[in-house]
Amino acid sequence: MATLVETGSETPNVTGPRKPHREDLAPGEVLCMYCPAKCCRYFALPIDEPTSWKDFEYVRWYLLHDRATVFIEDGVWYLLVHTKCKHLGDDNLCRQYETRPQICRDYTTKKCEYEDDWVYDHYFETPEQVEEYAEAVLGPRKGRDIRSPRPR
Ligand code: SF4
Ligand code: SF4
Repeated sequence: MATLVETGSETPNVTGPRKPHREDLAPGEVLCMYCPAKCCRYFALPIDEPTSWKDFEYVRWYLLHDRATVFIEDGVWYLLVHTKCKHLGDDNLCRQYETRPQICRDYTTKKCEYEDDWVYDHYFETPEQVEEYAEAVLGPRKGRDIRSPRPR
């Protein structure tokens, strides 16, 4: 939710809205009151770990798509797409709360990404990053060096 609490009434709030630690919530407060609905703005799916150039070509293809990224966390590869759910309102509230999917019903604030900083063990945003990673893991690909040739 976007409802954020101003700190102090006389001194200008130069540090921005308050975002409390989850353990500091006042009785009756909900973590989502201080969150821009982070969990409704992406989806991520585990994918097979690429082990060949053919596999990495698929990963490169994912990243040719707008807002698609790939990350590795604890050895597991994920396709992450930064895209807002069509049921999320401008006030960061779910507009289909009564009919929201089961995955949304099962999700709780207990282990959510409220304080996550989107830092992963590895994070790929461009096909070139994937190609470089693949080259480091698999070695150079014959006839397909992504670098410019050395000047002669
Ligand atoms: S469940 Fe967590 S990530 Fe989702 S809106 Fe609430 S605080 Fe934010
Ligand atoms: S259906 Fe509602 S709770 Fe689920 S992702 Fe969309 S906005 Fe969020």
